[in-house]
Amino acid sequence: VTPQNVALIIGVTGIVGNSLAGILPVSDTPGGPWKVYGVARRPRPAWNADHPVHYIQCDVSDSKDTQTKLSPLTDITHIFWVTWANRPTESECCQINGAMFQNVLDAVTPNAANLSHICIQTGHKHYIGPFEAFGKIKPHETPFVEDVPRLDAPNFYYTLEDIAFEACKNKPGLTWSVHRPAVIFGFSPYSMMNMLDSLIVYAAICKHENAPLKFPGTKAAWNCYFVASDADLIAEQQIWCCVDPNGKNEAFNCSNGDVFKWKRLWKVLADKFEVEYEEFDENQEYVSLAERMKDKGPVWDDIVKKNNLTVTKLEEVATFWFADLMFLGECMLDNMNKSKEHGFFGFRNSENSLISVIDKMKAHKIVP
Ligand code: NAD
Repeated sequence: VTPQNVALIIGVTGIVGNSLAGILPVSDTPGGPWKVYGVARRPRPAWNADHPVHYIQCDVSDSKDTQTKLSPLTDITHIFWVTWANRPTESECCQINGAMFQNVLDAVTPNAANLSHICIQTGHKHYIGPFEAFGKIKPHETPFVEDVPRLDAPNFYYTLEDIAFEACKNKPGLTWSVHRPAVIFGFSPYSMMNMLDSLIVYAAICKHENAPLKFPGTKAAWNCYFVASDADLIAEQQIWCCVDPNGKNEAFNCSNGDVFKWKRLWKVLADKFEVEYEEFDENQEYVSLAERMKDKGPVWDDIVKKNNLTVTKLEEVATFWFADLMFLGECMLDNMNKSKEHGFFGFRNSENSLISVIDKMKAHKIVP
């Protein structure tokens, strides 16, 4: 079958990249049949290898490597930007993320005559400001809506948008869409920020040590309404923007469409690992998850060996600092009206999102 569309996923082993790699090749996916190229820095991991995707190992921060490997792909029609690089300051983040994105566009746009759409994934930090600005600049009012002025602080999300706008100005017919998820619920042991994988690994360690599942966050995080964004749902919204004219040249929030409380999901997590569930304890001193887990590397190695799991390092599968950040205070909510008004009606039950990530972690033998 001749493909109708050809996707280039930058960050194919990431939390949403891995979902795109799972969904795009499926025969009834909108815009299909899709041919799919997927780029990531490291060799292809086993848990990504079943997706029928042309895997390209390439470092997009290296302009030469990017030219060499991506300029020959003249059939690309759609780019999915689902990657990022972290640096100590936001102005350095602007610099490196801008350079990575520009490297890819410089390799693809002059050669892929049928390039028609670019999806860029950013997030709620569009409305809050970068991590370094937390508490220093006033975020937008919640629930976040898309069409608000930019905050007065450097933000690599703005850099990415500007580069996309420029690319579309220079190539008639080329369109963009921006996707702004809340915290993402998805499966990727390679993700630089994966809240659920971190909590699931924590639960597996509690089980191994016969310890109760203590909530490592604040009372505010335990009690508040929370929103999350299922990685498959984000992939679906991005694909919708590729095929529906109403999704072009717009920015969209992308959250599950429900609210939940951690006090409830905590019980689901505890039950799945058959560990003792503990309510948030007012009298318990705050100890971050990163602190609780700081010496657990050897314990993790032991769990991996005893259960014959895929060999991983604790610091690879868990990003405890990120879970800590999400559990620091009340969640900031967003609003999905714009996405629905434009015609994307996808949603997820967040409790089921959690269960599906646990099931994937188990199926790929990342946790027992
Ligand atoms: P991720 O960390 O899950 O995945 C990154 C992917 O990019 C991986 O496949 C990695 O191998 C690849 N990669 C990294 N550097 C590369 C390079 N130089 N060359 C080639 N490939 C490279 O990514 P993510 O969390 O989906 O992040 C994408 C965007 O989503 C970011 O802007 C992030 O801030 C935003 N976001 C993430 C979350 C979350 O919970 N993870 C929530 C909201 C917004």
